Amino acid sequence: MGQNRTSTEGASRKVTFLGRGLGLRSPTKLTLLVCPLCSQRNGDRMAEKGVCEWCAYEPAERDEEPFGTER
Ligand SMILES: [Zn+2]
Repeated sequence: MGQNRTSTEGASRKVTFLGRGLGLRSPTKLTLLVCPLCSQRNGDRMAEKGVCEWCAYEPAERDEEPFGTER
């Protein structure tokens, strides 16, 4: 205890899910921007929840990979 971080800006990083889709991982939550399952761009409200608004897919945290490491 004792750590009080007031700023979360810049703390999130881009992730993919087994090389598909696109999300933003922050220390507290996942924002799902593009669904790895149906490849649809997510709506803002559902993106905030980390769930695809098209197919209701919710990516598993263990499937997350850093974005931009593809060869
Ligand atoms: Zn989907």
